[in-house]
Amino acid sequence: MTASYWQNYIDGAFVDGGAGPLDIENPATGEILARQALADAADIDAAVTAARRCHESGVLSAMRPCDRGRKVHEMGIWISHHADEIAEIHTLDVGKPLWESKKEIAGAVRYFEYYGQMAQSLEGTSIPLGGHYLDFTLLEPYGVSAQIIPWNFPFEIAARSIAAGLATANACVVKTPELAPLSSTYLARAAEAAGLPPGAVNIVCGHGHEAGAALAAHERIDQMVFTGSVETGIKVAAATARNIVPNVLELGGKSAAIIHKDADLDLVIRSVRMGIFLNSGQVCSAMSRALVHASRHDEFVERAAELARSLVVGPGIEHPEFGANMGSMISQKQRDRAENLCARAEKEGARACTGGRKLNREGAFLEPTILDKVEPESEIAKTEVFGPVLSVIKFHDENEAVKIANSTQYGLVGGVFTPDIDLALSTSKRMRGGQIFINEWFAGGVETPFGGYGKSGYGREKGREALRNYVQTKNIAIRLNREQG
Ligand code: NAD
Repeated sequence: MTASYWQNYIDGAFVDGGAGPLDIENPATGEILARQALADAADIDAAVTAARRCHESGVLSAMRPCDRGRKVHEMGIWISHHADEIAEIHTLDVGKPLWESKKEIAGAVRYFEYYGQMAQSLEGTSIPLGGHYLDFTLLEPYGVSAQIIPWNFPFEIAARSIAAGLATANACVVKTPELAPLSSTYLARAAEAAGLPPGAVNIVCGHGHEAGAALAAHERIDQMVFTGSVETGIKVAAATARNIVPNVLELGGKSAAIIHKDADLDLVIRSVRMGIFLNSGQVCSAMSRALVHASRHDEFVERAAELARSLVVGPGIEHPEFGANMGSMISQKQRDRAENLCARAEKEGARACTGGRKLNREGAFLEPTILDKVEPESEIAKTEVFGPVLSVIKFHDENEAVKIANSTQYGLVGGVFTPDIDLALSTSKRMRGGQIFINEWFAGGVETPFGGYGKSGYGREKGREALRNYVQTKNIAIRLNREQG
């Protein structure tokens, strides 16, 4: 049974919010699921103050890194013990199939394990300056890490930033998305269960324009990790710039798979399944464009449409196991936006081989959609739909494919399908993107750095590389009285 009212977590206590409770809707039914406390600017200030106090007390940075890392890992262990409960509420909150929620929770657990274990291995360097000096660097936490989370993978994305933030001894203030806040409460409970000190983890839900804007503009945050749209990323970057606060920006994408003439279409179709229909396509790194060699185009379109038609679309709670199923989108507003983009694409000459319409039932459902005959310069080819909509574009040679792939404002990820490794690497190196998948969309893991080129953002999350964004380097140079050999 779902709790009816969910609070924020500030300074080690569950609290109400000054912006009043918000009704949280189950997008698969339109019913009110629960009420969430909403933070106002004063609550954000309280959370930042608590995090600041925690940081300045030295309790996190004085801990031996292996002990701090163990606490981070313990958060993950606690979450894994509550995974079924979290997955169920998550699915009711966001609409994705239950098996996808379980996968998201497992991904979050991996971040706590991975960064927990890594806490003890972050090291500075010593720099030779000749006999009269000893010089070395320390990697110090920024202090207060502010983190703004989107609604599409709210649990996993918050986990990746909290785990990296705590592993490097930062106190975290996490602004969770107002469309999907419920599961994040379990991150607060995990921090409590792991015995983290008050203020080390603060979980606060609020409206973007109110709580999010207050956090980004706050004078006493030291670092910002923002994941969301380009439009909001620009606002956050501008607000943090006024206080010279560095950012990691993980923004949107319009990523292309290049399917060469010798591609194994079985592999390609498996990648289409996950690439554009996972989470109803509401994935920043979704395969939203398939660029297909002209000689394989008809075969590809037929098989992609067959795949799309095979998916059973319905409430996520009915799908506990991986299979041919897809859940609802996050809201009717997002669904209607995606449907309108499809309708305009058809007016511009695209052909919906299948899908493109909302389902004739309650809930935020859109048919899995394959759009063929998409022009590379059309709106649908350039705009992030953030829905289960694959645009298919024909190409004739590698140069043309790369040119089309690189023709959007984004550069998040890309994919290349061919058994010819020389061709795969040559295409990969020419594609503009922070991560290129060869022969399997989403190949990688928590270990692999993730982030964008172009308007997809800057900085990297995931992998060892991400930790560099959570620490600042202090160089210490010692003048020695006696020259050392
Ligand atoms: P969004 O930009 O609308 O919201 C993201 C977060 O920012 C939310 O918590 C929101 O409340 C907050 N926000 C809104 N206005 C704000 C403001 N003025 N100041 C501060 N915070 C504010 O994005 P969304 O709709 O939640 O998520 C979808 C977008 O996120 C897509 O573009 C998607 O591609 C992107 N995304 C990127 C990644 C990545 O890792 N690169 C991952 C997931 C989603």
